[in-house]
Amino acid sequence: MVPPIEISKFEQLKASGDLPSPKGVALAIMRLTLQDEVSVQELCQVIRTDPAFTGRLIKAANGIIGYGRRPIVAVQDALTILGLPAVRNMALGFSLLTHYRNGICEGFDYPHFWSQSLLRALGTQMIAQRTRVTAPDEAYSLGLLANVGELALATLYPHDYGKLKQEAGANRVLLRELEHRAYAMSNAELGAAMLADWGIPRLFTDAAYCVAAGQENNRVGEGSREASLALTLGLADLVGELCLCGDDARADYLYQVQRVGSRLSFDEEALALLADSVAAEWQEWSHLLDLHAHAVPAYASIRQQVEDAVNAMALAQERGEQIPAAQVEERKAAASGQGDKAVAEEPLRVLIVSGDAAERRHLSDILGDDGLTLADAEDGNGAISSVLEFSPRLVLMEFRFQDMSGIDLLRALRKMKIGRSIYIIVMLRDVSESVVISLLEAGADDLLAKPVSARLLLAKARASRRLTVLHHEIERDREELLHVAAELAVSNRRLYEAALTDPVTEGPNRRSLADRLAQEWSQAWRDDQPLSCMIVDIDHFKRVNDSYGHDAGDMLLRGVALAMRNELRAHDLVARMGGDEFVVLCPETGIEAALACAERLRQAVAGVRLPDRLAHVRASASIGVACRDRTTTDPETLLKRADKGLYLAKQAGRDKVMMVSAEDGQMTA
Ligand code: GH3
Ligand code: MG
Repeated sequence: MVPPIEISKFEQLKASGDLPSPKGVALAIMRLTLQDEVSVQELCQVIRTDPAFTGRLIKAANGIIGYGRRPIVAVQDALTILGLPAVRNMALGFSLLTHYRNGICEGFDYPHFWSQSLLRALGTQMIAQRTRVTAPDEAYSLGLLANVGELALATLYPHDYGKLKQEAGANRVLLRELEHRAYAMSNAELGAAMLADWGIPRLFTDAAYCVAAGQENNRVGEGSREASLALTLGLADLVGELCLCGDDARADYLYQVQRVGSRLSFDEEALALLADSVAAEWQEWSHLLDLHAHAVPAYASIRQQVEDAVNAMALAQERGEQIPAAQVEERKAAASGQGDKAVAEEPLRVLIVSGDAAERRHLSDILGDDGLTLADAEDGNGAISSVLEFSPRLVLMEFRFQDMSGIDLLRALRKMKIGRSIYIIVMLRDVSESVVISLLEAGADDLLAKPVSARLLLAKARASRRLTVLHHEIERDREELLHVAAELAVSNRRLYEAALTDPVTEGPNRRSLADRLAQEWSQAWRDDQPLSCMIVDIDHFKRVNDSYGHDAGDMLLRGVALAMRNELRAHDLVARMGGDEFVVLCPETGIEAALACAERLRQAVAGVRLPDRLAHVRASASIGVACRDRTTTDPETLLKRADKGLYLAKQAGRDKVMMVSAEDGQMTA
């Protein structure tokens, strides 16, 4: 959990205006996505004003749908794939990158910082695709922004933060200490406060904090979604370091990647795929973001290098040179990929709770010989805090303590989320029926008679392991189910959006019009307001298809839709009904204004130009207009009248606007 930065301090920093913050288009996107009823069209329009962001967004969406599928090329599809929160956070991340690509903080390596962030973003996205701990698109932004606190400190303290960073090197824990000493806050806390301020969910800010503070290995709550996300981000961070580091640091990072990877069930093959894909994507993304990326050796060859180094060390040892044994073992484990196995089959964590120091020692001796990891506590409260910190899988406890009874401790542990899955064995001397019943009812899993038999204790400890592993697996499955359910909800939302969208123009379709027309109709009826409707049909559209091909026809449809959209107000609707026919809906618009608007649309269509070889193609449209009045009883009648206007416009020689009034009179605009 993130220790909160003092609110008043953060508000002060924020008010000073010195903290890094999104600007321009990103700010507009963030504001739009905060509104309840932002339309995808509106958002697309804003996004398209920034071609660089558009390109990055589309690339991100393509990274998520994976290879082998039809690539995404349109902003709206990218938006549908990514969803609003991810787009918002990407806008935020990319905006920071653009505006804080360089800075005045001496000694702060800005390009390195952004390369680290980019690598972390790519890694987090790919790992999340496998661990499913969060949606990969959101993971990308989380990775990109996780270390923003460092950038903030460099911006706030440009004269000395660089020195601090250089002093700490890659040691995040030391950096945190130095930061606290110098500024009474760390980049981890400040970064988490900034992310929270930007509306990033708590789960993410916590994970970012853990990694920035160098605490992703903290085992508290292991197996929980929070812990898995912190590990995901931590592994991405290490894979990034493996890509960035020089030859001399590779072995260390390789070893750390293997260690953390194994905790997320990545075997060597999966790690190789991850590291190589991150390195490849890094090249592409760096190009897109104007960053420098150097070539990274393949994971397999890094492993080979480390193996060679181990062999060289062993030879040197044979020759009698002095090399610390631990270093050799560590290198060996890294080279053979055994480092991860040791952690995957990590020893059972056992907490011994007894007020009797001699008994604690005795039990520790028995269990320690079996290679278990031990902690002990002498009373109930000590046991509770140890459970929180040490996260044991097995608790071996006395029946009574100085500060509480065994029954009270059992109840307290079972009330805690983390305590529910622990296997608890109570040791007692008098095994009377009523005591046994009350202990089992309070939450004990098993009992052990005193004096404790070493063989029996070890057998029970091993048996408990089977159950706790099972428990852990069930918990994982449950988390995964919850996640799949959340993903389904997201896909449903996307499907819903897709059902309302016309694939050619990427704007609303016939169904979308039906929904909006019903809505606007009842609103106009309730408020006694006018509602105008137009039907727009491109003239001789077939000729374009026939002369230049269907693709040219599609291009013209898109051009016409865009030209009309640009002439309309935000709450007007233009929907493609099919073929070359569009319907435009203008709420709160009387007939005079509608005719003027239709004329603008007619001129806009006439001004549409296609690129290159099609530059000479000219378009025109015929438009029928109708306005709701007291004699129009339903939406269909309104549409029919507009359609009649269109018919008249075509008859009158095309490229015209015509309306039909309720009395069936006609008029040309
Ligand atoms: P008019 O001036 O009378 O409207 O003549 P027109 O040639 O435009 O005739 P019409 O409106 O009937 O033609 C519609 C054409 O649109 C017919 C069909 O081949 C073509 N079409 C329908 N859907 C699509 C599409 O998705 N893409 C393209 N390129 N053409 C389409
Ligand atoms: Mg037509």
